[in-house]
Amino acid sequence: MVILNVLKGLLQRWNLFKLTFAVTYKCNYKCLTCNIWKKYQDQPEILNRELKLDEIETLFHKIGKVFWISITGGEPFLRDDLVNVIEIIKENSKCQILNLTTNGFNPKLITKTVQEIAELDIPLTFVNVSIDGPPNIHNKVKGVDSYHKAIETLRYLRELDYQFQNLHCSFEYTISPFNAGNFRNLISCLYEEGLASVVSKCTLTLYHIGHLYDNYPDNPESEIVLRNKEKMLRDISDCQQLCSNGSSLLGLLRNIYLKNARNFLVHNRSPISCVASKHSLFIDPYGDIYPCIILNDKLIDYRKISTKSLKEISRQWQLKYKSCRKCWTPCEAYPSIVKNPKVLLQSIISLSFS
Ligand code: SF4
Ligand code: SF4
Repeated sequence: MVILNVLKGLLQRWNLFKLTFAVTYKCNYKCLTCNIWKKYQDQPEILNRELKLDEIETLFHKIGKVFWISITGGEPFLRDDLVNVIEIIKENSKCQILNLTTNGFNPKLITKTVQEIAELDIPLTFVNVSIDGPPNIHNKVKGVDSYHKAIETLRYLRELDYQFQNLHCSFEYTISPFNAGNFRNLISCLYEEGLASVVSKCTLTLYHIGHLYDNYPDNPESEIVLRNKEKMLRDISDCQQLCSNGSSLLGLLRNIYLKNARNFLVHNRSPISCVASKHSLFIDPYGDIYPCIILNDKLIDYRKISTKSLKEISRQWQLKYKSCRKCWTPCEAYPSIVKNPKVLLQSIISLSFS
């Protein structure tokens, strides 16, 4: 039944297929790959502009149906009303897929909250703990001594995963020049921790270059990127080899993502045209709508739209962004893959023969 609903959703021509919502920009880590954590250090006064529950209700009522909701931050679990936020989103968007990523800072709190989220019974709920390497590398990338907390959170979540049919918990690994060449080492650590069962469900993402991540080497030809490119390519191969999950639909999408991530790293250009603003959008914690999580190009404040006007103006926005090839972030890459039947078919054929 779940698979049927997912397939139906993939085939439907909903204008808005995926929405990424940053529920807060609060964060208690200091990742090298991100600068969101600096936001409220620099401007503490804007924290109280983050949307309250009644405003989130209005926002998602206006947005209407969305197949896939991705919750991000900051650290989403620092919002103590996170379950209420997701309940509102579920009621209004009728989403079939929900995914969240956490840094795993508080294993017990996160597990309790994830249990309540799983009980909302969204057909596919994915929760990933961000782990960026073996202990010393992870702690360096996160800027905080946090590897063991992440592992403990992952262990608790795996137990929940066994209890709820709709829940799928694993880890997310962001490949960057700061941890290049360490994916295989992390997998060995997870085996030693007795966490082999999460490996096939992992998510690999390429580092982002964008306004929220601008402490990064934004030149793809910069010395640190060039020096680590081969190792990053090796991480992609290792993931393809070590984390195979057979013929599952999401495993297939991940393989297509990884295959194209390799192309992106080699050519510094997204391999397929982007559907940002037409089939996917990003909304920040203040209700401002952007085409994607990468571009600092605010489209509109949610207070100024109606459901009808959002659909109309998103067509105009699409003309502006469809030729953009600046990134291969999974937030928009997955919608771009599934909303492009030609690419999907070609990828399936080439993966079948590779
Ligand atoms: S990547 Fe996530 S955990 Fe790390 S600083 Fe940014 S928001 Fe915080
Ligand atoms: S390729 Fe798409 S997701 Fe990436 S920056 Fe351009 S519009 Fe945004």
